[in-house]
Amino acid sequence: MVKNIGINGYGTIGKRVADAVSAQDDMKIVGVTKRSPDYEAKSAVEKGYDLYISVPEREAEFEEAGIEVAGTADELFEKLDLVVDCTPGGVGAANKTDIYEKIGLKAIFEGGEDHDAIGSSFNAEANYASNIGKDYVRVVSCNTTGLCRTLKPIKDIAGIKNVRAVMVRRGADPNDVKRGPINAIVPTTEVPSHHGPDVQTIIDDINVMTMALIVPTTLMHTHNIMVELEDDSITTDDVLDAFQKAYRVLPVKKSLNLGSTAQIMEYAKDLGRSRGDMYEIPVWEESVNVENGELFYMQAVHQESDVVPENVDAIRAMLELEDDAEKSILKTNKAMGIL
Ligand code: NAD
Repeated sequence: MVKNIGINGYGTIGKRVADAVSAQDDMKIVGVTKRSPDYEAKSAVEKGYDLYISVPEREAEFEEAGIEVAGTADELFEKLDLVVDCTPGGVGAANKTDIYEKIGLKAIFEGGEDHDAIGSSFNAEANYASNIGKDYVRVVSCNTTGLCRTLKPIKDIAGIKNVRAVMVRRGADPNDVKRGPINAIVPTTEVPSHHGPDVQTIIDDINVMTMALIVPTTLMHTHNIMVELEDDSITTDDVLDAFQKAYRVLPVKKSLNLGSTAQIMEYAKDLGRSRGDMYEIPVWEESVNVENGELFYMQAVHQESDVVPENVDAIRAMLELEDDAEKSILKTNKAMGIL
């Protein structure tokens, strides 16, 4: 039976997850929620999603803006098998205790929530099986998803002694007019940055240290990763082969004029992707080098979209629609046109 899914918080991540769920044949979107009558609320209705409001007192504002409202968020929750909570960080954890647990509704949360507040973290290729049947699951952040996507295949072929990674983070999403920096590099002075410990919520036996800095760009993050391998017979070609075989990693060539985040984003548009999204983690092939048992590589992360297919797989695991991670990943990838 097709499962009924709702999106709480139809913003950057929520609207993408709504479209990704709608592309599947074993789940459907029953409705999405908004707090404010803005362009996203208007376009949700124009796309055919039933719109529910999280602040019932604001119904008149939606009416005034000519945006049709189907009901309140609480009314939507009653119709669902699972809600994907895409509200800003911290709101999801409060919704878990204040709403979902009280009405017995399964929920997925995003990377802005802490692992401990939700209890379980998810990455399809790394730990699908341990989330089967769970009630509350967090899909880890865009950066942690990117790290897990490439570290898991390396661990599988070579074993990992140590990972050191430096994340160069985008300052804001393209539509975010309130964040920066616009003319500075801002180091995250907390060491490790939260990314390393976050990877360990997915791959618990990995030794990983991360540092991060924020730069004035909106397109993507990049990661510079150094991995001490257990198996020192592994070659650069072995690693490239593992990246080729991984389901959501995309080796790209600088020599094909894909040597920057700007060109990769243009490539995603050329692929005809909705919103110009790049769901895969592009790894620059030329940056992949094994030297004296240590692997070096650079990758990019499209922060607005890499987590989207993970949400679809998390739904399948939690609602026990599919027990096999590989089958779910392939089904999601096919429906979303992932390479
Ligand atoms: P966003 O601000 O673009 O969207 C959040 C949406 O939630 C908005 O539509 C807002 O109106 C709505 N909202 C706000 N408060 C609410 C409330 N109390 N109840 C119901 N709805 C409410 O945020 P986003 O970038 O989509 O982030 C959502 C989650 O995804 C966060 O946990 C974030 O950390 C995570 N995430 C974001 C990115 C990214 O780059 N944008 C990447 C990966 C994960």
